[in-house]
Amino acid sequence: MRIDEALRGARDTLAASPSARLDAELLLTRVLGQDRRYFYTWPEKTLTADQQRLFDLLVTRRAAGEPVAHLTGEREFYGRRFVVTPATLIPRPDTETLVEAALEAVPDTPRRVVDLGTGTGAVGVTLALERPAWRVILTDASAAALAVARDNAEALGAAVSLVRGDWLGALTGPFDLIVSNPPYVDPDDHHLEQGDVRFEPRSALAAHDRGLADLRVIAAQARERLAAGGWLMLEHGHDQGGAVRRLLAGHGFHDVTTRQDLGGNDRVTLGHV
Ligand code: GLN
Repeated sequence: MRIDEALRGARDTLAASPSARLDAELLLTRVLGQDRRYFYTWPEKTLTADQQRLFDLLVTRRAAGEPVAHLTGEREFYGRRFVVTPATLIPRPDTETLVEAALEAVPDTPRRVVDLGTGTGAVGVTLALERPAWRVILTDASAAALAVARDNAEALGAAVSLVRGDWLGALTGPFDLIVSNPPYVDPDDHHLEQGDVRFEPRSALAAHDRGLADLRVIAAQARERLAAGGWLMLEHGHDQGGAVRRLLAGHGFHDVTTRQDLGGNDRVTLGHV
């Protein structure tokens, strides 16, 4: 079968996905080891029988709900390719808001930085690469996630330290910048039964107290571990901006503000001590 025919067929099979065409292209990227431009340059090239079989298998699994990032083993974040496994959350474009907030608020001079619950390492590795002067520590409670973060840091050439532990529990500080995309979804939220999240670690997504439990622990610990003038920046749910602003203000953080993601939703709240 030709590339263009294979993509058309896959798009029809995946019609239930809002990103059917893109999904099909990303899966074919994995099968052919070529980037998406290749499909537009060589639409008439034909797949071998093995390639066709693998592509059909991946499309079938995608149609059954598996995330594209699990089937391709990667996801792009801030213009770089991160390895993804079922041990971590899949990096999301919304989280680039957290990276941008950090890059804008904190000067490009030596800083002590920690990314809590790093998962794939997307946030901390990106900061380390964008700001070589910063000393960045990645933490995660999951050894499996930390192994993925280590692979990504090595593959992308980021000089980071990795520490296993619960939030700031294993660290003494002081830090100039603490960033985190912790679990913040209400465990009863029906959204956890739909789409990619069904295949992601529940421990990376859901938190008690209507999603606020881990945000509360992190805010309290960060207050003790930040150097004078140090920043805390937290990703959270679209309806948690007010609660997280009150949380930070209650701990005495200054200049507490919330930034919106690409969809215009409250997504990241920051403040400094
Ligand atoms: N934003 C993600 C979602 O809604 C959740 C990410 C997280 O809990 N840190 O699926």
